Amino acid sequence: MSKTRIGVVGCAGRMGRMLIAEIAGSGDCIVAGGVEAPSSPNIGRDLGELAGIEPLGLAVGGDRAALFAASDVVIDFTVPAASVAHASLAAERGCALVIGTTGLDTAQAAALQAAAKRTPIVWAPNMSLGVTLMTDLVEHLARRLDAEFDIEILEMHHRHKIDAPSGTALALGQAAAAGRGIALDGVAQRTRDGQTGPRRSGDIGFATLRGGDVVGEHTVIFAAEGERVEISHRATSRRVFARGALRAARWVVGKPPALYDMKDVLALR
Ligand code: NAD
Repeated sequence: MSKTRIGVVGCAGRMGRMLIAEIAGSGDCIVAGGVEAPSSPNIGRDLGELAGIEPLGLAVGGDRAALFAASDVVIDFTVPAASVAHASLAAERGCALVIGTTGLDTAQAAALQAAAKRTPIVWAPNMSLGVTLMTDLVEHLARRLDAEFDIEILEMHHRHKIDAPSGTALALGQAAAAGRGIALDGVAQRTRDGQTGPRRSGDIGFATLRGGDVVGEHTVIFAAEGERVEISHRATSRRVFARGALRAARWVVGKPPALYDMKDVLALR
């Protein structure tokens, strides 16, 4: 069987470098190429050297159309505007796409939906098996624990992260809201400061910590009078996300056009 050709956009980023190493070491997939933002100082560098592995004889490029043409599937961990542009390029080329980028606004999410009418796209704010299962557990608990239980979501990430709350925290909030049969938008309490007054019953609260090199930590707390349930996930290596993205890439090639997430990839629906 021929190997799956995987292109990486944002290949010099924290996740991009991890992805190059993971694909190169996979055995059943090959690195089709890597593209960076036009202003990146890494354009021209060898992809393997950049990823801390042996040279691959492929240079970081800037031509995304050529990358999409040379790939069975492209993986994108970049920034929201770039991911939207890559989704429409994937749709034009009929190339499958895996997006891990977080922080997209409603219009940007709608643009992904539109592109996914023409090509299969997996988009998930967290590609780890642990968080995907945790999301299911949170929905289940929110369905079973009544409104006596206040739901609070705490997350911590490294100092470089540019969006807050994290895409994963918001997805956990969506899952909790779905368990309660309500929309998150109406109950999300994303910041608290000053004279807030008492907690509004039914709210889902978020607290964001940033610092150091923390890969990603999430805790969902269900707090009632006299007892508390907490579910936590701690990622200690970005490798879990890279491995999940690779799993999604293998899975999505040849699927019908639609917007999928990790629950589809892991057959949890
Ligand atoms: P990073 O800043 O280290 O890397 C992003 C890279 O994208 C940079 O190298 C940047 O130059 C590049 N880039 C920006 N615009 C581009 C363009 N137009 N074309 C090509 N490349 C472009 O960030 P990171 O820590 O790797 O995270 C990237 C995104 O992935 C963030 O949104 C983060 O929240 C998300 N993330 C998701 C998961 C998950 O499991 N889904 C896990 C980790 C990070």
